Amino acid sequence: MGKRKILTDKDPALHKVCRPVEKFDGRLHKLLDDMAETLEEANGVGLAAPQVGILRRVVVVDTGEGILELVNPTMLETAGEQTGMEGCLSVPGKYGLVTRPYIAKVRAQDRYGDWFEAEGEELIARCFCHELDHLDGIVYTQVMERFLTDEELEEMG
Ligand code: ZN
Repeated sequence: MGKRKILTDKDPALHKVCRPVEKFDGRLHKLLDDMAETLEEANGVGLAAPQVGILRRVVVVDTGEGILELVNPTMLETAGEQTGMEGCLSVPGKYGLVTRPYIAKVRAQDRYGDWFEAEGEELIARCFCHELDHLDGIVYTQVMERFLTDEELEEMG
């Protein structure tokens, strides 16, 4: 395992459409392991492969229930709406106000290529949307209403 460098949104890799994973081999497993370690060290909620410079459709998520690996994820269904604070490891020190679905259901492959579905609400739904956007070259600052001020962040705790 190894920690990888997290690129900022100034890097062109963050603005490219990623290609699907075709080989579920040791190289993919190493990438997933490295991404999990990088996410945990950064204390983040989600990390997409382009954030570590790999233009493949791979995401790791940890909303407090352990690492969830999503390979070639697609959005199946969304419902409701939530507007709240959102941040990104590639936009350090800043948070924006972003409206997302309240519930999101994705279909993805695991590290061995088996398909599964995962559904979540609130933070999990926000995270699924945020990370899937990364795979299409979209950073939250492109879909946010505005950045939050320091005063607002203090109030939100
Ligand atoms: Zn992000």
